[in-house]
Amino acid sequence: MTQKKMNDMSNAEDVPRAITVAVIGAGMAGLIAARELHRRGIDVVVLESAARPGGRMLAETTALGSRIDLGGQWIGHGHHRFETLAAELGATVFRMHTPKRPEIVDGDSRIRNSSLAIAAATTGLLALEIAARLGAPRAWKTQTVRSWLRHVPGRRARRLLELLVSVSTTADLDRYSMHAFLEMIRYQGGLTAMLSTAGGAQESLVLEGAGTLTERLAAELEGRVVFDSVVTALHRDETGVTVHSASGTYRAAEVIVAVPPPMAARIAHHPELPTARNQLQDNTYMGSVYKAIAVYDRPFWRGRAHAELLVLTSPGMAVFDTSPPGGPGHLCVLIAGPEARNLDGLDSGARRAAVLGPLSAHLGPAVLKPAGWHEKPWHLDENVGGGYTALPDIGHDEGSFPASSERVGHLHWAGTETAGEHAGYIEGAIESGERAAHEVIETLSE
Ligand SMILES: Cc1cc2nc3c(=O)[nH]c(=O)nc-3n(C[C@H](O)[C@H](O)[C@H](O)COP(=O)(O)OP(=O)(O)OC[C@H]3O[C@@H](n4cnc5c(N)ncnc54)[C@H](O)[C@@H]3O)c2cc1C
Repeated sequence: MTQKKMNDMSNAEDVPRAITVAVIGAGMAGLIAARELHRRGIDVVVLESAARPGGRMLAETTALGSRIDLGGQWIGHGHHRFETLAAELGATVFRMHTPKRPEIVDGDSRIRNSSLAIAAATTGLLALEIAARLGAPRAWKTQTVRSWLRHVPGRRARRLLELLVSVSTTADLDRYSMHAFLEMIRYQGGLTAMLSTAGGAQESLVLEGAGTLTERLAAELEGRVVFDSVVTALHRDETGVTVHSASGTYRAAEVIVAVPPPMAARIAHHPELPTARNQLQDNTYMGSVYKAIAVYDRPFWRGRAHAELLVLTSPGMAVFDTSPPGGPGHLCVLIAGPEARNLDGLDSGARRAAVLGPLSAHLGPAVLKPAGWHEKPWHLDENVGGGYTALPDIGHDEGSFPASSERVGHLHWAGTETAGEHAGYIEGAIESGERAAHEVIETLSE
């Protein structure tokens, strides 16, 4: 059936369209769940509020014909589901070009590894790692990361730690508790795993763009993904769920909500959801992150320096060389938290100058003249609300990973936040989609 026909049918407001399973959200989690159900011959529809699939994943084609990702992109060490999916969908995975450690720069100067600032920051990181292993005291639920940072000696060391926490979590540090941060470190298997490239969370990339995988999954669903179809209300009873969406009303036996908790809070429920689920949705927020990719004929900087940098001046940034092998040069820039939002008031030209200007002293003036420029402030995306993930608000820990996926009658929950392993990552989104699909299959066979 064509998508138009599906839309037309469901637009007949008074007659809900009968469907076995409705999946809400065409991000990686929702698409994986829907594909599994579709493969088993189960009648499924995916309702997506945006006009495209992918959610927090989005690939674009550059002026030089290469593919880049403005959303999730890296395959981390041990992210086997992601790697398998890429191979299955005919994509090519390559190891990122990376040095042993990033260069830390402040204005025009590079900070030496032997400096006091690096020693103090390393001690701070070690203290965090140990505290995460020991378990965070409950009193730290209201102590912010920002207030903890004040104890770190030296402006540069503090700034470096601020940047590392911010870019690795996208949290606002005065809204992020030490308890939540230490829980995150523990869950992710330590700071080294979170921050590293080789052997860590930023190991490999997809040549065609990781976002392409979601496009291919949506295509496999043969018109069963209905775009521009925000779900506004769910009425559940003993036999199923009535789904109200911008593309009409559906009556489903089972529903999978594959939307991050703070965004799921916008859906009205009748009857009300259990308190614990409401608290998860109400006490979490999406992180703020701005991502840009500058494209060059070739990675010209490699003759002079490597381009993995932590830039301490404002806006603080993490820069990576994500160039494909033998292809054009791709410089990937991440700016997080309030510093990401500070860029929102600038026009694109001013933002580009603010981002690339500080790199000129380190990579050469050619960095100022990219052949292509791609950018996205994710916190302004009304469909996903931000990234990388949902975060627990200060004083609460409902959003610590993994978020609860306890079903509520015929409602099931997916989304990276609910993954048992690698929550927050694409790997976690895949795992959660598989788990929710199997939960539904089991229920249908009862
Ligand atoms: C800038 C950035 C960089 C990242 N980098 C990496 C990385 O390198 N590696 C990695 O593994 N992960 C990374 N991530 C995280 C990764 O992208 C996510 O973990 C993953 O894509 C989440 O998938 P999901 O399906 O759980 O949720 P989402 O992708 O958020 O999907 C949810 C979908 O639900 C839709 N939706 C929301 N509300 C409704 C509604 N009411 N009705 C209908 N539809 C609705 C949304 O439009 C969206 O399409 C990054 C994220 C960002 C933003």
